[in-house]
Amino acid sequence: MNISIIGTGYVGLVTGACLASMGNEVHCCDIDEAKIEKLRLGEVPFYEPNLEPLILEGVEKGRLHFTTDTPTAIAKSDVVFIAVGTPPSADGSPDMNQVWGAAKDIAKGIRGFTVVASKSTVPIGTTQKVREIIEGITDEEFAVASNPEFLKEGNAVNDFLHPDRVVVGIDNDRVKTVMEELYAPFVTPEQPLIFMDIFSSELTKYAANSLLATKVSFINEIANICEVFGADVEHVRKGIGYDKRIGFQFLKPGIGFGGSCFPKDIKALDAVASGRGYEPELIRAVHNINQRQRRRFFDKIDRHFEGDLAGRTIAIWGLSFKPQTDDIREAPALAVIDLLLERGATVQAYDPEAMNNVREAYGDRITLTDNYYDALKDADALVISTEWNDFRTPDFNRMKSLLKSPVVFDGRNLYSVTKMQQRGFMYYAVGLKF
Ligand code: NAD
Repeated sequence: MNISIIGTGYVGLVTGACLASMGNEVHCCDIDEAKIEKLRLGEVPFYEPNLEPLILEGVEKGRLHFTTDTPTAIAKSDVVFIAVGTPPSADGSPDMNQVWGAAKDIAKGIRGFTVVASKSTVPIGTTQKVREIIEGITDEEFAVASNPEFLKEGNAVNDFLHPDRVVVGIDNDRVKTVMEELYAPFVTPEQPLIFMDIFSSELTKYAANSLLATKVSFINEIANICEVFGADVEHVRKGIGYDKRIGFQFLKPGIGFGGSCFPKDIKALDAVASGRGYEPELIRAVHNINQRQRRRFFDKIDRHFEGDLAGRTIAIWGLSFKPQTDDIREAPALAVIDLLLERGATVQAYDPEAMNNVREAYGDRITLTDNYYDALKDADALVISTEWNDFRTPDFNRMKSLLKSPVVFDGRNLYSVTKMQQRGFMYYAVGLKF
């Protein structure tokens, strides 16, 4: 099939590379000329495991193309995916300008029956509005669909190639046939292609992310209650997680969730639901608990130093919002860094992949070190904010000799409390029994 993807970010590029790997002819379109130029030179603009070889293979086989000329690419396409950003605006509702812009560009290019499907995470009613925008510009035949994307950064290629399910919202049987053909290589009877109406499909993506975020905030709430009573959240987690109805996924206490999706999507669901007169109290609480979690973590640091953070040097391990990505959008580490800088502390930080993005965001306001041990030199304490594997079994003696004082604030509960105490560290974690 001939396909265009509008937006060459995490979702668009992974989608394009994976669809090309199955023999499709794919045009990845973006308005960011520098990004397209990089891709043409074979450079992947962000870190995502296993993506680069797939892109190189697609380019080498002549099936994957990069362009800023969206209408020309669209004119050749049977299916067009919208994969542009839907960042939050000031009131929490998603800023839809990129989607409306993409719809206009698509309309200019459509020639002959074309399916226009949205992979961007969008409020209910967006697909209908995309249809109206295109109808207002062209008389060519087209149909719209909602096709929310569930891939996870850090495992995006695998998620796309082997999805748990593919959701498609349609109101036209012709779209069903096209999508069945397109997704045939990716789905199985156990990991099915699910068709539904467009509104339900649009809501499904928000529902999935809200539930996962709810699990994180839930276990963080339980961890905080553990701290109040001197219970241990690791025991509680095991005690509930082995219950098959509950499971362990996303029940990991810590400094809270970040990233480009959970925070934005729960705020968006809150904004769109309350805009229609329904107050989503649970969703709102999930967001508030997550904000409080970061603050509680910082307060532990502040209390340890008895409110005297000015002039202290704090080392930070991990800056991306989770391991296996260089994405720092809404990363909890940045919230802690901002609070530390506000209070006059100096920050020395290291991350295996996110350093360029952090350098761009902070300039010389923080020091980035060549490796994670260098970040510890003469620091008053270490903060761990991302659970990269590098940090799981470090040389604790070396850590102790580098730190000015052996204090660790672990926002990811990587180590055993008892062992850290035996090693001579003052160890703060989240919800663990001391
Ligand atoms: P991104 O910000 O990384 O990429 C968006 C790209 O779209 C940018 O390169 C931008 O230049 C481009 N763009 C904007 N307007 C354009 C236009 N008119 N024509 C062509 N290109 C245009 O975004 P992302 O992280 O890939 O997310 C895209 C959407 O998918 C969002 O709605 C997001 O919520 C959703 N989503 C993201 C993830 C994720 O893990 N990142 C997972 C599932 C769903």
